[in-house]
Amino acid sequence: MGKEHPSREFFVATPEEIRAGRTSDVYFHRTLEILRKAGRDREPVVAEVSTGGLPNGWPWGVFCGLEEVVHLLRDRNVSLWAIPEGSLFPPKTPRGVPLPVIVLEGPYGDWAVYETPLLGMVCQASGIATRAARIRKLAGTKQVFSFGVRRMHPGIAPLIERSVYVGGLDAITTPLGADMLGLAAMGTMPHALTIVMGGPREAFLALHKHLEKKVPRIALIDTYYDEKTEAVIAAEAIPDLAGVRLDTPSSRRGNFAAIVHEVRWELDLRGHKDAKIYVSGSIDEATIPALLEAGVDGFGVGTSLSSAATIDFALDIVEMRGKPVAKRGKFGGRKALARCPKDGAYEVGTTTCPVCDGKMASAYEQYLDVGSVVADPPPVAKVRARALAELERASMSP
Ligand SMILES: [Zn+2]
Repeated sequence: MGKEHPSREFFVATPEEIRAGRTSDVYFHRTLEILRKAGRDREPVVAEVSTGGLPNGWPWGVFCGLEEVVHLLRDRNVSLWAIPEGSLFPPKTPRGVPLPVIVLEGPYGDWAVYETPLLGMVCQASGIATRAARIRKLAGTKQVFSFGVRRMHPGIAPLIERSVYVGGLDAITTPLGADMLGLAAMGTMPHALTIVMGGPREAFLALHKHLEKKVPRIALIDTYYDEKTEAVIAAEAIPDLAGVRLDTPSSRRGNFAAIVHEVRWELDLRGHKDAKIYVSGSIDEATIPALLEAGVDGFGVGTSLSSAATIDFALDIVEMRGKPVAKRGKFGGRKALARCPKDGAYEVGTTTCPVCDGKMASAYEQYLDVGSVVADPPPVAKVRARALAELERASMSP
């Protein structure tokens, strides 16, 4: 907790600083000091993490960020239960109770200062994973790539890459994200290649000749000329053309569907029926349906993913010394959250499913028992598989 101001090349907190509570709001440190002096810092409490609502009134979110929370709180004097990462959840149960995604139990003073980083971890990751899942659902079987790392600070690139992958995206773009997730990073060329090589033909020939053989050849076809013109050049220059990408600025789009149709026609005409058409640039939930209709095979989605609205979870004490407590506007008492294994419905205070009348089981898994790891967080592939399976049965609107 040093008082000096060490010079900082990049404005990113280190894991040590986060663990030391240096990124926590100071009022927690001050509260802790007051409680200590008052002899009340060992009060046994139960706290729950829940949200009052989701961005844009969305019916469900994807719970993401738990793995970091487990790492943050391990070896602290606290027990932790949570719905598994990758679970879809509504903001409230059918009875109208805000759905607790995490439950903490232990002496308040032993973990109070971690409220700030804990919330930050799940709020941002869940926001990005939820947006990714919505785009995944809209795009159906078409490929979706994450292009949004450049819009956010590089210090959180791994967080973005992991969260979009959990939400069901097909590929990420950075070597660091690829190593972390056990994937191949996807990407071939920016406009700069065409400019530096002196034109699209020169760029595509160089790409064909020099790009690592195992990387699928995808040509960016809107640098200098009409997309149709550059598509023809790419088709001629790259025999094993895997696809073309249109990053057309909105000021040049006109009838974008018609442009996509033309590009398809020219590629087919030249024997590139298998070459895919990808689009990127300002792609979001609103623009995807029309592009799907135009015959687009894949999307590069950037800002709308990486700067997705956070899910505003809050942490509230709901029980003290075994007695229900709560601030105004919150539901007191520890909630026994149950979930139906058949349809995924949640409810508290009952084991009968509100949807199918079937028997529900506890929605929680325990991850920490007084700081000891009970269950290691599952590998990210399993978290993603859960999100994708639950996404199958989810609908986009309430
Ligand atoms: Zn059910």
